[in-house]
Amino acid sequence: MPNDTDDTRRCQGITSQGLRCEKLIGAGQSLCFLHDPTRASERSKVASKAAKARHSTPSDEIVELRQELRDLAEQIRQKKVTPGVGSVVNQVLGTLLKTFEQQRRQQEFDDVIRRLENVERRYAQGRAQYDGDSRFNAGRWSS
Ligand SMILES: [Zn+2]
Repeated sequence: MPNDTDDTRRCQGITSQGLRCEKLIGAGQSLCFLHDPTRASERSKVASKAAKARHSTPSDEIVELRQELRDLAEQIRQKKVTPGVGSVVNQVLGTLLKTFEQQRRQQEFDDVIRRLENVERRYAQGRAQYDGDSRFNAGRWSS
């Protein structure tokens, strides 16, 4: 195998440290998964999957908070936590719960704005179309 040197089997990409990438690659390839620009969308899919796996959903977090509140109530009953500490922890958990409501409202608001912008854009496009059509008299009163 005269041409099958180590060099030809390594990725031609340059790492963020400015060094030659060390990844081994298959025959017919010149770049590894991380450096191949044609696989960028694949990479972002993998990345977003990993991000989703790390962060639980807001619903999961609410369920967790509810469980924490139940545990707290039980600990107060069993006198493992003083009423003073219990009260403060309860306040903090309650405040955390409120942020979910805030987040939901913000998302609803963002969604409405996005939809409104969509409607406005379509309306503007429609107007432009009618303006070029004499049957609609350019949207103005005929005199
Ligand atoms: Zn590489």
